[in-house]
Amino acid sequence: MKQNHSVKIRFLSFLLLLFSLLILCSCSDSGELCSETPTEPQKDILNVHFLDVGQGDSIFIELPDEKTMLIDAGENYHGEGIKNYIGDCGYSRIDYLVATHPHADHIGSMAYIVRNMDIGSVYMPKAAANTKTYEKLLESISDKGLRVTSAKAGLTIAEESDYTINVVAPVTIDEDNLNNSSAVIKLIYKNNTFLFTGDAEKEELETITADISADVLKVGHHGSTTSTTEEFLDEVKPTYAVISAGEDNSYGHPHKETLDLLEEINCKIYRTDIDKTVVFSSDGKTISVKCGEQSIKKAG
Ligand SMILES: [Zn+2]
Repeated sequence: MKQNHSVKIRFLSFLLLLFSLLILCSCSDSGELCSETPTEPQKDILNVHFLDVGQGDSIFIELPDEKTMLIDAGENYHGEGIKNYIGDCGYSRIDYLVATHPHADHIGSMAYIVRNMDIGSVYMPKAAANTKTYEKLLESISDKGLRVTSAKAGLTIAEESDYTINVVAPVTIDEDNLNNSSAVIKLIYKNNTFLFTGDAEKEELETITADISADVLKVGHHGSTTSTTEEFLDEVKPTYAVISAGEDNSYGHPHKETLDLLEEINCKIYRTDIDKTVVFSSDGKTISVKCGEQSIKKAG
């Protein structure tokens, strides 16, 4: 009897351990994200998809009124993958398209998106790059008869009854360091706030005067130590941090110093190099997170 009892206890502890492991690994135990079958857009739910585009940024946002926003579009081989992902979510239109700054890992596929999707308004900082990628993007915008609105601190992109999208930086343009001309966007949906920093480094982040407290922070410049400081995190006070970086990238992003700072404030960290595409959902009160197996496929 006694032996039986201890076997039972051992079995129960094993089950308990298995259960706790499952909870701990909840991010790799992904639910259905945007699957092959197009899903119906959901009203009153905000979904923020941090797409795994390797070393680069691309964030697709389903707004609570079924409008959409795309912040950046990764390198030039991700266009089709990004378009397909958005299509699988049930959309063919981007209402608000934002290029945070004209570096290839952010605007690489944006010309493809402009040419192949229905586009509402386009926002870019007044910072030009002398590159083919940038020229191609401007060409695609003018070919479609679209105009670029200058993204700068104080600009309101959307102001609806239950959500607002504001640009809080750049305050000034830094022609010598395009990272420091990044459009920094704050999205508020009822009680939940998201802050998207592009590749803004500490010099730019220090110039922000707006309230930047947020539940979810898209960590600046792929987790580089040149961006995140203790003072900045003190202002944002994020519960969740997302780092968009490529596996084994040559820059060593995210830097250990950045991860240490985020851990010090008990921030829950998600990384596209580890968690792949990360999706935050908010009903305006609570936030839930899902991580996907899904990476954006490289193609045209
Ligand atoms: Zn970048």
